[in-house]
Amino acid sequence: MRFLPRPAPRPRAGTPRTGRHRTFLLTLAVAGVTAGAAACGGSDAAAPTPPTAPTTPVVPPAPTVYVAGQSYFGRNNYVEYLAGNAPVILTAPHGGALTPSGIPDRTAAACGGSATTVTDANTADLARVMQARFAARFGSYPHVVISHLSRRKLDPNRLPLEAACGNATAAEALGEWHGFIELAKSAVLKSHGKGWYMDMHGHGHAVQRLELGYMLTDALLDGSDAALDATSAAENLSSILTLSQLSPLSFSALLRGPASLGTLYAAQGFPSLPSSNDPRPAGADYFTGGENTRRHTCGAGAASVGGVTGGTICGVQIEANFTGVRDTPANRERFGDATAVVLEQYLRTHWALRMTP
Ligand SMILES: [Zn+2]
Repeated sequence: MRFLPRPAPRPRAGTPRTGRHRTFLLTLAVAGVTAGAAACGGSDAAAPTPPTAPTTPVVPPAPTVYVAGQSYFGRNNYVEYLAGNAPVILTAPHGGALTPSGIPDRTAAACGGSATTVTDANTADLARVMQARFAARFGSYPHVVISHLSRRKLDPNRLPLEAACGNATAAEALGEWHGFIELAKSAVLKSHGKGWYMDMHGHGHAVQRLELGYMLTDALLDGSDAALDATSAAENLSSILTLSQLSPLSFSALLRGPASLGTLYAAQGFPSLPSSNDPRPAGADYFTGGENTRRHTCGAGAASVGGVTGGTICGVQIEANFTGVRDTPANRERFGDATAVVLEQYLRTHWALRMTP
């Protein structure tokens, strides 16, 4: 892999630019199989076949120093990395608005899959605000990676062929996307030894609640606690595998007990599935978790797509409802504040992880 420094891109109007700009040229392996994914962030009907050659991440050249809270950009400002120093990584793959004419629109015919192009409205800003509110509370910054390309041009939550549709420029941005996430993961492991990843999305389902995707099917979540805990099968599949193995709580308690992420969010005024009061999809629309969550957390599927099964970065996909979470600046701040409270409690309790730098 080689890297060529390039001139700093021209900042776009209205977007804060506080950091140094750096771009990278990469050699990218775009290969794999077509996923049948039809959803925003994974659904039961969309169980993909693991690819044989996941996207090669772009790793910035050493000895680049990243300053927590500042922004860094890939080529053409398509991918933004807000550097962090907390053990938390937030990503927003579907909130982008850029539609460069040089990248053809993704279509099902060309890309395979369903070529979903709907934007998860306001999720780029949501991730940015989540970082800011977290920093206001703890003085430490989660790492944040944002795709500014419209989903018509790139879907970073898909396997390479469906994500970039064979376009070299889009594929390069996809490489930068995973590269910045890998950079963040390395920084988290170096500073804290373990960490927490959340891929932020927005759903359009009728029920206004957070859908927490642990890479578990509706059928598994519809089962009883006893069934979930009877063997390690569901735990192994989940995006909290390593955390669960180290926790004295049962797997089902971590998913929907009093100290689960969903129950903690609900206590802050953000109803969630799964949680104590809302433990099962039971036939309702629900996203189980997509390719980013598969790759960048610790479950059984990670290794086949370039991640680390049984590693010490676990996490979850959050599909946020619109009303009350993403719709207004005030609600995005409210959700950011709640997330800081929830993660501090959840990660201290289950993962012995402190939010300080
Ligand atoms: Zn999405």
